Amino acid sequence: MYVPWRRVFSWHCSACGECCLKYKPKLTFYEYLKLKHTGFVEERANRYYIRKVNGKCPFQEGRLCTLQENKPLACKVFPFLVKKNAKDELALYEYEGEEFYVYVATDCRNTVLAKKPTERLEKLVREAVELVLGKKRKVEEITCKTENLNFWKTPKKRCR
Ligand code: SF4
Ligand code: SF4
Repeated sequence: MYVPWRRVFSWHCSACGECCLKYKPKLTFYEYLKLKHTGFVEERANRYYIRKVNGKCPFQEGRLCTLQENKPLACKVFPFLVKKNAKDELALYEYEGEEFYVYVATDCRNTVLAKKPTERLEKLVREAVELVLGKKRKVEEITCKTENLNFWKTPKKRCR
């Protein structure tokens, strides 16, 4: 389930890897073409996805993602979802005079609900919008932080 970002107090990623088991990430056509050679993508009714293999994303290794630079936008911004037309005041986020509607997935174990978001949560919303707009390519905040993870062995493999 997704809730408007103004109903979320905080979120962080602890690299549990569960979202890569639950979700079937949607791809843009360009992402689909880039990953087609792997054989792990599919097209259904002009929509493109990573297909599940044995109930999980085939690009997940342990809890981590092996795609990194080629990681789909939907994965980069998860648990955030940015829409253009929703007419939902609680989800409204204005970026450089343009209106967006931002939601947060509640099935991530670290999405904490409350009436008022923290400043950090607002920063994360801003990054999600910038990633969706292509103003930013590299995820800085919407990811796990290596210093919190004692199982970390290969720094190049960042979660989701
Ligand atoms: S976003 Fe949430 S569900 Fe996904 S790896 Fe991080 S903590 Fe786990
Ligand atoms: S973050 Fe990586 S491993 Fe997880 S669903 Fe996306 S592509 Fe797959």
